[in-house]
Amino acid sequence: MSDTTAKIALITGANKGIGLETALQLGKLGVTVLAGARDLSRGEAAAEVLRGVGVDARAVKLDVVDHADRAAVAKFIEKEFGRLDILINNAGVMLDPRTANATGTTPEKVLRDTFETNFFAVVALTQMLLPLLRKSPAGRIVNLSSILASLTLHATPGSPIYDAKTFAYDASKSALNAFTIHLAHELRATNIKVNSAHPGWVKTEMGGEGAQMELADGARTSVELALLPDDGPTGGYFHMGKALPW
Ligand code: NDP
Repeated sequence: MSDTTAKIALITGANKGIGLETALQLGKLGVTVLAGARDLSRGEAAAEVLRGVGVDARAVKLDVVDHADRAAVAKFIEKEFGRLDILINNAGVMLDPRTANATGTTPEKVLRDTFETNFFAVVALTQMLLPLLRKSPAGRIVNLSSILASLTLHATPGSPIYDAKTFAYDASKSALNAFTIHLAHELRATNIKVNSAHPGWVKTEMGGEGAQMELADGARTSVELALLPDDGPTGGYFHMGKALPW
């Protein structure tokens, strides 16, 4: 049985990569983890690994773009726990070609599919779970953004991302950052904090071969923002404790 005093966290896309590592690190700190996965068997396999190292983990089937899945997960959390303490919107896709800037030829379908997962699904899931987050004494929402969301850095010649222009992905994460700012403003008088995280360039399937950061470090920003103290920031955009330019 779950320890009812433990914090309850839902992590989307927790079957691999940064999501799974975040589940591991939060779980080791005593958080009860609901590991979201669009393929339940992959989610179960991840939860099994987590339980094997002592984490209180359960898999939940959650294709973030699927309304029925989102509704079922909200219902499950309501029934099982009556509240949600931490929501980590971690699931994401990069569908752009990994070539030089192809903004002028990015297919509409790539744009729409990218926004569907990285933006619309995050907004819809968060809105659905807000009533449960409001019941937490210290609700925390972490949106997995990217340094590639930074309009300031994209517009600054010589910045580390100036030549890394994957239009659909970058724009979807900039929109996600707008959601962070707007929702944090709406919730500014509540106990809920909303922040965007840049994990770093991390060795995952998405991060690819060139990535420099190990998974353990790649999950650190998400974990830190998930466990912010009451006097911590809200409406910010962070990497490893440092603010990034919007
Ligand atoms: P991975 O590609 O390794 O993992 C992505 C996760 O998202 C997988 O679990 C995947 O599930 C899941 N996912 C994708 N679409 C959906 C969906 N519709 N419903 C549910 N789950 C879905 O990526 P990372 O771990 O590297 O990335 C995690 C987050 O961090 C992303 O939001 C990414 O944009 C962000 N990020 C990553 C960086 C990096 O260098 N790795 C840099 C900056 C930001 P499945 O296994 O079924 O495909």
